[in-house]
Amino acid sequence: MTHQSQNERVLSFELFPPKTAEGMDKLKLAVERLNSVGPRYFSCTYGAGGSTRERTFATVGWLREQGIETAPHLACIGTEKAEMRDIVGHYIEQGITRLVALRGDMPSGMGRTGIGTFRYANELVAFLREEYGDRFTIEVAAYPEFHPQAPSAQADLENFKRKVEAGADTAITQYFYSAEAYRYFVDECERMQIDVPIIPGVMPITNYNQLARFSDACGAEIPRWIRKRLEAFGDDKDSLKAFGHDVVLELCQQLLEDGAPGLHFYTMNQSGPTLKLWNELGLSQ
Ligand code: FAD
Repeated sequence: MTHQSQNERVLSFELFPPKTAEGMDKLKLAVERLNSVGPRYFSCTYGAGGSTRERTFATVGWLREQGIETAPHLACIGTEKAEMRDIVGHYIEQGITRLVALRGDMPSGMGRTGIGTFRYANELVAFLREEYGDRFTIEVAAYPEFHPQAPSAQADLENFKRKVEAGADTAITQYFYSAEAYRYFVDECERMQIDVPIIPGVMPITNYNQLARFSDACGAEIPRWIRKRLEAFGDDKDSLKAFGHDVVLELCQQLLEDGAPGLHFYTMNQSGPTLKLWNELGLSQ
């Protein structure tokens, strides 16, 4: 694994578009605090099939008004090219230069797979490069513990390589709690000449039920010893958060020691858990 110097590290924060005005107020407060430590950029998720389109636009629009570098996510599954042009055109007007290009997971009952629609993220990356050249830095997703639908680890790596060959500049991983899984993945990518920075996605642990639900859906493993301890805390939220913080802090320390080129925090629109990690890792540059 090649090592990255501290100043070259890409440190970023992910947000999701709130559903309510109250949620938006909370997001604004969280962003104010998170932005004060100087991340490279914020990203904002997008619901596949356009389910959050207007809310993602509103969140990205507000971030841009604050002069914050923002990377909107694009989820392409079932989306017509004309619609993708509309969305990207909107972002060009807002001065966006970075995009996270994804396939997404179609909500059940919303399957659209007509002609002109995208099937996989590599097709979206190729489309963005064909239509917009080098205007955007393009990020894609990577899975150190492998995507749940991949027929094999090797097939998933080859599909990841396809996205890089189509023109992705960098990758953000699904979250994981095993530094070894990341290390093996990066080494395997190096062997396959996949030569983009692979930034670990970091999920703070603050709520066991929510984490267990997400992890079951996305194939991110919570190691048994962590799961058992989290279960045992029951309603003792403070002890759970303290334990969760220690686990994730140690993971991040290990990742940075191993030469990870940055960290991407899944903030869940909360500043506290991420900033506690940030400060204890000494990430302010
Ligand atoms: P792909 O890279 O297309 O891969 C999907 C699956 O298909 C994999 O199993 C892969 O091995 C296989 N595959 C890929 N290409 C091919 C091919 N050409 N032929 C055959 N098989 C292939 N979801 C959202 O809806 N909105 C978001 O904002 C969002 N943000 C995310 C951010 C990050 C950092 C990550 C890691 C995930 C995010 N997701 C989001 C979830 C993501 O959309 C899902 O994990 C989705 O199932 C896969 O998306 P992908 O871009 O990785 O897909």
